[in-house]
Amino acid sequence: MSKMDNLRAMREAKYAAAQKRSAEAPARPKAPVAPPVAPPVAQAAPPSAEAEPATGEELCGHRNMGGRTCTRERGHAAKSHRYS
Ligand SMILES: [Zn+2]
Repeated sequence: MSKMDNLRAMREAKYAAAQKRSAEAPARPKAPVAPPVAPPVAQAAPPSAEAEPATGEELCGHRNMGGRTCTRERGHAAKSHRYS
């Protein structure tokens, strides 16, 4: 018998024992199954609904009625938005 065979035999014995244990032991009464709670990831959503994906430079990001996006820089001084 090689060492690997020994290891495998030990592992199989352990596995069998574990199977037997779990089969014999009924569900533990004081161990309620905790439902998987979704982590609160969506809590800190940034309030900027108009945020555009970062393209290297900050854009105004204002959208006109046609669905186009203002291409001026963010916080531009010009009163009008520019859609191009
Ligand atoms: Zn703009």
